[in-house]
Amino acid sequence: MTVTTQSLVVGQQATGTDITVPVIRFQGQGRGPRTYIQANVHGAEVQGNGVIHHLVQLFKTHPPFGDVVLVPMANPLGINQKSGEFTLGRFDPVSGENWNRQYHFDPALVQQLARDMADASEQELAQALRQGIARQIEDKLASPFGVKSGQHLALRLQKMALEADIVLDLHTGPISARHLYVPEYARERAHLFNIPLNILIPSDFAGAMDEASFSPWWQLSEALAKQGRAFPVMVDAFTLELGSQEYLNVEDAYRDALGIVRYLQHRGALPKFDVPLPEMTQYACYLDDYRAVYSPCGGQIEYLATLGQPLAPGEPLARVWHFDALMTGDRESRELTLPEAVIPVLHFASASVRQGTELFKVLSHHFLL
Ligand SMILES: [Zn+2]
Repeated sequence: MTVTTQSLVVGQQATGTDITVPVIRFQGQGRGPRTYIQANVHGAEVQGNGVIHHLVQLFKTHPPFGDVVLVPMANPLGINQKSGEFTLGRFDPVSGENWNRQYHFDPALVQQLARDMADASEQELAQALRQGIARQIEDKLASPFGVKSGQHLALRLQKMALEADIVLDLHTGPISARHLYVPEYARERAHLFNIPLNILIPSDFAGAMDEASFSPWWQLSEALAKQGRAFPVMVDAFTLELGSQEYLNVEDAYRDALGIVRYLQHRGALPKFDVPLPEMTQYACYLDDYRAVYSPCGGQIEYLATLGQPLAPGEPLARVWHFDALMTGDRESRELTLPEAVIPVLHFASASVRQGTELFKVLSHHFLL
């Protein structure tokens, strides 16, 4: 088995220094789907790097069937974006844009292929779609008008992911239970990751890596279905949210590496070997039912609900304190509750909030995956 490592240039600092990401390539045995996995595109979300550490060890002893590309620490700009103790790397500090909303997808390309190549073979269509997207990415990067810093990074990462049949983007929430974004067409295999909370998402594109990876294939499948042709969605892409930001636990990361291994084995990307994972209850809801809870007032927050555990109607999510009201006779605190059953997935990382802060995200109208 051949393993190569490379420092890929994804940008340049004001001082002229190149910005690079580490790329690890396992050359497969020429069969099975190709896999691309990246971690830490949001600077504070480091747990995925621990997962990639374990995957490297596992792939060394169990060589993958198809090629695998691993990119830990995929966003050096975000990782180095510190303010005091904290890492801020979710948004480009210059433009304010989310680092994970700058990938490329042009639905017109899909429509054109569905129109002009409706009778072509699956392989011809797949090749034309990949080549078409690759050309668009090259054209963007070569544009005489230039592209944004975030696009220099995103488009180069996407070029590598474009070669893969399976794309996994490893993130975390702020303070968060483990959860998974599942494209609806891949619902039956989502349980393999062994992640307790699952959000089922449609074929829309909003700029994220998972969407940029599956949307072209899914929308091509939908466009051809309208013409009466069954065409499989040929690329699987998931965003895994592996707990909280600013937190690294490499021992825990092993469990998520095993979940990924089990999924890759199922897809025929890896040889079978024993993967000891405990059975767990897995919940899901649709994206529209993945609700934010905004703070009804400013104040200081005592977070009460246990993340990942079902919460009955009327049970408190949090207590909001108004310490300015001590001894004034006004209400010092109030409980934040919801009138329906939910599962809290994540909460804001700070205890001080102003009115309208997104305090929690919860699964509502949830069901078993
Ligand atoms: Zn993230």
